Amino acid sequence: MIALLNKEVEDNNMRVESPECLQPAVINKRNKISDHTSDLYCSCKDSECGHTFVSTLSFKRSLSPSRHTTERFVFEYLKSLPQAEQDSLPAKLAQSR
Ligand SMILES: [Zn+2]
Repeated sequence: MIALLNKEVEDNNMRVESPECLQPAVINKRNKISDHTSDLYCSCKDSECGHTFVSTLSFKRSLSPSRHTTERFVFEYLKSLPQAEQDSLPAKLAQSR
């Protein structure tokens, strides 16, 4: 788990640094505290520093919506249409091509 997390961090070029000496730190453990927030238990890589600390990683906002969300929204909207309108959609879509 730790190796996987560090690999993910490495692949995304995410860096954690010690707030004390501003040197790179290693994430030793991730503790999920909610769906969108985790505590990261970190230790400074500078052996002379030895600082260990907890940082928080949390979701802030989307830059573009998930396709899953968009598809679900469209599906729910189409389901809410009267049956006759739902039935007419394939023909309307075919005409619009
Ligand atoms: Zn340090």
